[in-house]
Amino acid sequence: MAQGILVLAEQRNGAFRKVAFDAVSEGRRLADSMNTDLTAVVLGSGIENIAGALRKYGADSILAADDSALADYNTDAYTNVSANIIESKDPALIILGASIHGKDLAARLAARLDAGLVMECINIKQDGDKLVFTRPMYGGKILADIEIEGTPKIAAIRPNVMTIEESEKAVTVDKVDVRVGEVKTSVVEKLIEEGDKIELTEADIIISGGHGTSGDFTAIEDLASALGGAVGASRFAVDEGWRPHSDQVGQTGKIVSPSLYIACGISGAIQHVAGMSTSKNIVAINKDSEAPIFSESDIGIVGDLVEVVPAITEEVKKLSKNL
Ligand code: FAD
Repeated sequence: MAQGILVLAEQRNGAFRKVAFDAVSEGRRLADSMNTDLTAVVLGSGIENIAGALRKYGADSILAADDSALADYNTDAYTNVSANIIESKDPALIILGASIHGKDLAARLAARLDAGLVMECINIKQDGDKLVFTRPMYGGKILADIEIEGTPKIAAIRPNVMTIEESEKAVTVDKVDVRVGEVKTSVVEKLIEEGDKIELTEADIIISGGHGTSGDFTAIEDLASALGGAVGASRFAVDEGWRPHSDQVGQTGKIVSPSLYIACGISGAIQHVAGMSTSKNIVAINKDSEAPIFSESDIGIVGDLVEVVPAITEEVKKLSKNL
């Protein structure tokens, strides 16, 4: 009978994504409440020595699938190798991050394993002998509680929503035999290297700008740098070529859940709100007191962002100096 929880912990270029720690922590919490074991699995090339970092978050066992064919994320290779490990471990629940790669892998695994999948899951709770998965639907207008029939069940969790908790366990890292299988695709060229830029979906603070910036993001970048946050954008700003598509927040951009989201000169169209409504604290700065973004925000500032944003940056700088 399927049992236990298996987490696929995502890494890129030899460093774990924050969502890997979200997933292992959530796996630990559920494993405790279900009285079962937690296995953390990492796929990649040259990753055997980083895999041990997962001990800190309470995995009962850690498996490393280390092979040069897994150096870059590849749908076929990652699906084949993950599916082999899952079939041999036969877990009742699989958790992974709903990152760009995680969503791709989750969907492929669901099809391969004939398993039910909850994408963008923001909560998992045990209700008697059932698991209830919560996810936003209709652009965040409702939260749906979902049950999955059969096993394994797959939850792709939204980054930054689950709490990271440390509960160190002294476990060894076991290397697994990698069978890469048939691979029909390969990475030919990487056009964009993100470098040191904070990944939007993992940022704790995001300052976003829209049409109201008229294309000048200097004040927004200054505030982001003062707060140690990332810069986001509405689709209007991206369509105008003011920001790259990788900065777009919303239905056709990224879905983010930072601790603090500051929307500057953004009206709050439903497609934008769909990407940021699960942020923990939302501040809106807009000239129009009737702008819909104010009904989504915890703090609303009616004013011209050209004056308000630099004033906030100055205050942040003063406070940081006094710390
Ligand atoms: P506007 O709606 O034009 O709002 C600009 C705001 O700035 C206004 O509220 C104005 O009062 C305020 N403002 C102007 N000047 C100042 C100033 N100096 N100081 C302060 N405030 C000022 N949009 C997304 O963002 N992300 C998506 O992923 C996305 N996906 C979409 C998918 C589909 C299928 C469709 C149809 C649309 C999508 N959109 C998306 C577009 C969305 O509907 C809106 O058009 C877009 O979000 C508007 O961007 P904005 O808020 O920057 O601009």
